Amino acid sequence: MVLRAYGLNNMYLDYSQISMPIDPDFPRNQQVIGKHMHSDGEHYHFVWGPGKLAEAAENEEVKSAYATRGEEITPLGSHGTMVAVDWDSCVADGACIEACPVQVFQWYRTEQDVPAKDVANATSAGTGSTVKEERKDYTDKADPIREHDCIWCMACVSVCPPQAVKVDQSNLEFHEKASGTFNESLSKGSAPPPHAH
Ligand code: SF4
Repeated sequence: MVLRAYGLNNMYLDYSQISMPIDPDFPRNQQVIGKHMHSDGEHYHFVWGPGKLAEAAENEEVKSAYATRGEEITPLGSHGTMVAVDWDSCVADGACIEACPVQVFQWYRTEQDVPAKDVANATSAGTGSTVKEERKDYTDKADPIREHDCIWCMACVSVCPPQAVKVDQSNLEFHEKASGTFNESLSKGSAPPPHAH
């Protein structure tokens, strides 16, 4: 599908092939480009990229919000591995935030109001809003800051309008490989693998 858009200052963005919702095989097709720490010193989630211009770059509310801030829409990649949100597809709808029974997500800008690319290796306390309508504006993104609290109910997956959310408990393997804690023999045995974050 060929889509075109105009970015800030009417700069023409030409991309011949729009990437559809989050790539279900992103841990195999992409690389770790960041490690977003939780300030508890124990937990973190990885950021996968390089990312691409996608649904957010096509969304009028998102484009308007970026223009108001004077920020450019740039590829951001996906935050999280077992609970992953493709920030290039996320249009700040907030349905996932509302659906999650254990507040895995927060609006990242309500804690740190900085460009999204600057969050890839940031440390966050998890003190941001978990309320759907409390997004800072439509440049905000749903951040799985408490990925480790997921109970695998899958509620967030089906409600996301651009299908930007992928939840897969088995992706723990990729999280652990990126962490350097993956144990091959344990993963093949009957015992569950250690749940390292
Ligand atoms: S699968 Fe359920 S618990 Fe996990 S992030 Fe989604 S809504 Fe929250």
